[in-house]
Amino acid sequence: REYADISLKDIDQVAKSSFPLCMRHLFDKLKEDHHLKHGGRMQLGLFLKGVGLNLDDALAFWRAEFSKKVGLEKFEKQYAYGIRHNYGKEGKRTDYSPYSCTKIISSTPGTGDHHGCPYRHFSEENLRAALGRMGVNSRAMEDVIDKARNRHYQLACTLTFEALHGMPCDAGINHPNQYFSDSRKILQS
Ligand code: SF4
Repeated sequence: REYADISLKDIDQVAKSSFPLCMRHLFDKLKEDHHLKHGGRMQLGLFLKGVGLNLDDALAFWRAEFSKKVGLEKFEKQYAYGIRHNYGKEGKRTDYSPYSCTKIISSTPGTGDHHGCPYRHFSEENLRAALGRMGVNSRAMEDVIDKARNRHYQLACTLTFEALHGMPCDAGINHPNQYFSDSRKILQS
């Protein structure tokens, strides 16, 4: 691997510094609601697998939030299977891959869903607020919004990355896990 795997104790900090907005949003909603619907569990769960969170840490991570809402027993019965499944430990034992930007951008989140790409699926107002919370300054903000408005979602994400890291991202963003690993490389160097 080109970057260190993350562990549970670091996850809040790396979520703030190195998650792209799509994952940051899911992460924040999970902490707020102690729940995510299926699409969100898949999008965030496979991303976390991709950043190197091992199965035991993943189970502990989801359990800590979901048990606050549905209780421990229901978590083990209804949700733990899905997490093991993502890691290829149940069912057909397929090792599922984290979703690319193309796949996330073309998803169709419904009411109460938090998956998808914020540059595409958020209203402009919500996107501005989310970018502000991430720490994007007002000058960069207008460029990001302009790209999103013109449906250049990955370019909008690339500009966000550049604004937050103070570094060019010449390859552009095409995968949330690439955003993460490029961020870690810059922040750890
Ligand atoms: Fe996530 Fe890709 Fe959208 Fe960025 S462009 S928010 S990494 S789906």
